[in-house]
Amino acid sequence: MLDIKAIRQDFPILSREVNGKPLVYFDNAATAQKPKVVEEAIKNYYETINANIHRGVHTLSQLATDAYEESRLKIQQHVNAKHSHEIIFTAGTTFGINLVANGFGTLLKEGDEVIVSALEHHSNIVPWQFACERSGAKLRVIPMNLEGELILSEYDTLLSEKTKVVAITHISNALGTINPIKEIIIKAHAVGAAVLVDGAQATPHIKPDVIDLDCEFYVFSGHKICGPTGTGILYGKEEWLNKLPPYQGGGEMIKQVTFEKTTYACLPHKFEAGTPNISGGIVLGHAIDYLNGIGFDNIAAYEKELLDYGTARLLEIDGLKIYGTAKEKTSVISFNIANIHPYDIGVIVDKLGVAVRTGHHCTQPIMDFFEIPGTIRASFSFYNTKEEIDILVEAVKKAQTMLS
Ligand code: PMP
Repeated sequence: MLDIKAIRQDFPILSREVNGKPLVYFDNAATAQKPKVVEEAIKNYYETINANIHRGVHTLSQLATDAYEESRLKIQQHVNAKHSHEIIFTAGTTFGINLVANGFGTLLKEGDEVIVSALEHHSNIVPWQFACERSGAKLRVIPMNLEGELILSEYDTLLSEKTKVVAITHISNALGTINPIKEIIIKAHAVGAAVLVDGAQATPHIKPDVIDLDCEFYVFSGHKICGPTGTGILYGKEEWLNKLPPYQGGGEMIKQVTFEKTTYACLPHKFEAGTPNISGGIVLGHAIDYLNGIGFDNIAAYEKELLDYGTARLLEIDGLKIYGTAKEKTSVISFNIANIHPYDIGVIVDKLGVAVRTGHHCTQPIMDFFEIPGTIRASFSFYNTKEEIDILVEAVKKAQTMLS
């Protein structure tokens, strides 16, 4: 059982007001709020050990390097990677996918195929389109049903010896669907394809186990798991990271530079050109400690309660339709109210202190599938409460009355 009252004390922002009303923050799928330990770790870094890493002989540089590398080890443990050099610090999920897709742009050739799904965020579509344009490979898409679940029998028919990569989201940001990625990965491997899993929406709710999943790549963002913005992780199997070319050139990623030829550093440095987000990388480790302190099993159980409660309460509203009714789902509720534009609801509930996201959620193909311009999305975190859901429901009802 989580002590939500105590947990909320860890997040100073949750006690602020917005438009004269207590803040109800239901935009957690866009970014999570930060606990005090994260804020303090950022301050502590800059006040005590700020220096560039991997470069200096001086004490501060050594301390900063040690803290950065300790964080890498912590993240390795968290995702259960075999080697710490399989953990690459990035600027976020988007960066991680671009790094991998850009590499595949040089490995793929005409006749090859890349499979994505109908549930992807734009950041797991567009980089693969770039890779296909560059290489002449073809992009194929696993379709979904009206519940927002992928149709796996269609996936079976798409897979062939032409399939070189399957790039798939673990959990949909727009609908909350949890994909059966283990099954998807096993099937991809059966035809010899590599799999990249977009874990941006999964990592706030689930502790990923990359050895158990056996995926080639797993990417996620720090800011969605209570860490700083501009941080993220790319996990890659050693052999695959060695196969991919470097993404950015510069300091840190080289072994030797001459004007004739440059050789590259070993993993993980080959993919970490330039001065990284040092404090961000260190503090991401603190954010992961914080979440593990609460416990992912506790988080998932409580968020399921919020999802069930929120779904039942919202469905009391006349004309409200929920998009995404998959059996396996996280605490994301995407909905619309008949004849009202989602944006208008979003603006009114904001005036009542409730932060939701409205629009296409960077998943335009999902909106096209449902033939809607967008949805209102309420996404719950472990620090939210049922009382806040009641406030959302009243705010939506008020908006509906005003707009009808
Ligand atoms: N994939 C999914 C499923 C997401 O939800 C997001 C963020 N909304 C991203 C990718 C991109 O993450 P970021 O903007 O942190 O790079």
